[in-house]
Amino acid sequence: MIDLHIHTERCGHATGRMEQYVEAGRARGLEVMCFTDHLPMPEAYPQHYTMRPEEMPAYVGDVMAASTASRDSGGPEILLGIEADWLPDAFTEVERAIAAHPFDLVLGSVHFLGDWAFDDPDLVARYDAWQPDVLWERYFDEVANAAASGLYDVIAHPDLVKKFGSLPTVDPGPWYEQTALALAEAGCAVEVNTAGLRKPVREIYPALDLLKACRRRGVPATTGSDSHAPSEVGEGFDLARELLVEAGYDSVVCFRQRVATEVAL
Ligand SMILES: [Zn+2]
Ligand SMILES: [Zn+2]
Repeated sequence: MIDLHIHTERCGHATGRMEQYVEAGRARGLEVMCFTDHLPMPEAYPQHYTMRPEEMPAYVGDVMAASTASRDSGGPEILLGIEADWLPDAFTEVERAIAAHPFDLVLGSVHFLGDWAFDDPDLVARYDAWQPDVLWERYFDEVANAAASGLYDVIAHPDLVKKFGSLPTVDPGPWYEQTALALAEAGCAVEVNTAGLRKPVREIYPALDLLKACRRRGVPATTGSDSHAPSEVGEGFDLARELLVEAGYDSVVCFRQRVATEVAL
C-alpha cells in the first residue's frame, strides 16, 4: 500500500529521523511513502506546530536525499509532500509558500477554527464553549472552503472534528454530502487517515458514511498514517483497506508532481 502522510522530527512534535521512517516503511512492505511535514505558518499564527520557514530548503533536500537513498536500496519510492493548513485569512501567503518547492503532493488540513487549533490536546478545554452541532457545522464549512480553494490535492483527515469524541446530536449525513460534493467539484481526493485509531475517538478518519458519500460522487481516495513516530508508518492499513472496500473503492490514488495515478488496493 501507499502511505502519503508522514511527519518527521522537524515539525517539533514528532520523533525519529527520516531514515528510520523509511526503514519502518520498508519493513511494512509499503510501495510508496510521502513525507508531509507541516508547512510553516504566516507570522500571525502560532509557530510551534511547524518547522521554521528557514528550515524548508533543508526539509526538501532531506526528502530528495532519502528518495535517492531508498531507490538505491530497493525502495520504497519516497515522495516530497507538505501538509498545509487551511488559513482563510492567509490564502496568498500559503499559495506562495506551496509554489516555492516542487512538491509531489499537497495535503490540505483544517486544524484551525479562527485562532483555535482544535486538534491540539492542550486546547481541548475550549470544546466546552461549543455546542457540538454548531462546531461540526462550522468545521465542515471550512473543509468545503479548503477544498474549493484549489490549493490542495487531498483533504487530510476529513472529519478531524471528532478527534476528542465531540459528536453531533443530529445526523451528520448532510455535512458528509456537502463535503463529498465540495471535493468532487474541486477535483480533490479524500484521505483515509489511520491516526484517528490512536486518538480518543478510536476511529479512522473519515467515518464510513463520509467515505461512501465520496465514493458515490467519484472522489478518489488516498491512504495515510499521519505518522509522528517511525513505528506508526503504515499502521492500521489493513483496517483502512477494509473501510475503503466497504465504501466501494477498489483503488486509491498516488500523486507525483501533483498528478494523480491509480493504484490497486
Ligand atoms: Zn493534520
Ligand atoms: Zn499530519
